[in-house]
Amino acid sequence: MRRTSSVVSLLFVAAACSGLEPAVVTTPTTETAITVIDTTTPATVPTPTTTTPDGVGAQNVGDPYFPDLGNGGYDVTHYDISIAVDPTPAELDAITTITAVATESLGTFNLDFVGLDVTSLTVDGESADYVREGPELRISPDGGIIAGEEFTVKVAYSGQPQLLDLVSIGIPVGLLQTPEGIYVFAQPDGARTWFPSNDHPSDKARFTFHITVPKPLVAAANGALVETIDNGDSQTFVWDLESRMATYLATFVVGEYERFESEGPDGILIRDYLPTSFNGAMPPSFEVTAEAIDLFSEWFGPYPFDRYGHIVVYELGGAMETQTLVLMGSRALFDRVVVHEISHQWWGDSVTPATWQDIWLNEGFATFSEFLWVEHTRGQQAMLDTIDGLHESLQIIDHSAIFDPGESELLGSAVYWRGGLTLHALRLRVGDEVLKEILWTYHATFAGGNATTEDFIDLAEEISGRDLTDLFATWVFAEQLPDLPAG
Ligand SMILES: [Zn+2]
Repeated sequence: MRRTSSVVSLLFVAAACSGLEPAVVTTPTTETAITVIDTTTPATVPTPTTTTPDGVGAQNVGDPYFPDLGNGGYDVTHYDISIAVDPTPAELDAITTITAVATESLGTFNLDFVGLDVTSLTVDGESADYVREGPELRISPDGGIIAGEEFTVKVAYSGQPQLLDLVSIGIPVGLLQTPEGIYVFAQPDGARTWFPSNDHPSDKARFTFHITVPKPLVAAANGALVETIDNGDSQTFVWDLESRMATYLATFVVGEYERFESEGPDGILIRDYLPTSFNGAMPPSFEVTAEAIDLFSEWFGPYPFDRYGHIVVYELGGAMETQTLVLMGSRALFDRVVVHEISHQWWGDSVTPATWQDIWLNEGFATFSEFLWVEHTRGQQAMLDTIDGLHESLQIIDHSAIFDPGESELLGSAVYWRGGLTLHALRLRVGDEVLKEILWTYHATFAGGNATTEDFIDLAEEISGRDLTDLFATWVFAEQLPDLPAG
């Protein structure tokens, strides 16, 4: 995301990660039937034992900052979210159907789900037992689920969504109210307030949304608008996202909007949603979109998706890189914010951090992208001045090493700025052409999936053929701020 600040035009810092993999609690994948044969009596043929899967999926994935998030034992492939919205005040009547594959034998497994009332729950079409335990929805389907099997969970629910607090910025996350509608801002853990999910960046899935709203309101979400159904007094907007997405990037917005389309580089469809009160006046900062996609395609590799666009949410204090359809607050309509969010389509959306501790892989890369944009539009000296300014600011900010900023500094300035400076230092060390090769390969290798800090460092060393231990040790793993390298 990109915060707006009253202080200066701030680049955001991304947090580095220790490269820790989520500590998944594993349970035996099969149950072994032990047959004791008594050789003193006539041999008998053991009766085949049919075992009911009774494994217990882990209640979390061991994220260092968010111990409740995620669950073990399955991999979600698709969320189908049908929501009828009464927007003021926000009241939902919803059914989410989750398609997943069991990665172990499951008698019981969990979904993350906070607030809202569950009205029915089925697994593979059969009613299933469930209990609510804090932020967990614990499900025990009859007969269990065999490892490797695909299964569907259908949860019907309703009510007014609950908001959670994002400690690092002090703003509420979840489904937020606007005067005439609503929007979803869910980073890092707000997805579980509006749909039951495996709410951790490490389990990415495809999404389909069916959002029903009263006329004349419009509903927009990630992906492609594939159908608009007229129900008389209401309309259902069907959106489909073919690329895999982390739950925190899922969004929908309801309001009075007008849609504008244009063609971007390489046939990418650009669709922007402006409040009708804008009377079609496109924010000038949106005009940099195609040029920024071109610039970043040169540095990072081809744009990862087939669509892009912004939706202006007047009340939002910053911006958020919601996949293929970015939320833009009315106070965030600046070129640097626009390009920051565009770069997140590669860094965060296509390649997603393995844990929240790896956040600098999002925000540091997006900040470095801002450097590239400043250099591209205003020249190298302007970029170096920007970098000097951030380095100076970092000297007076008390901050931890970016590989482990802590939950409270998840989106703190150091994660953004020092993360960006890390890539700048790498650029000076290896040169532009090698850095491009590193970034292209890093993106191509992890596109659609997850990466850790170690993944990036290993790849940077492999591509460059250099030992970069000292560079990452000082910029990423040490607390003390290094001097800027001469360049
Ligand atoms: Zn950001």
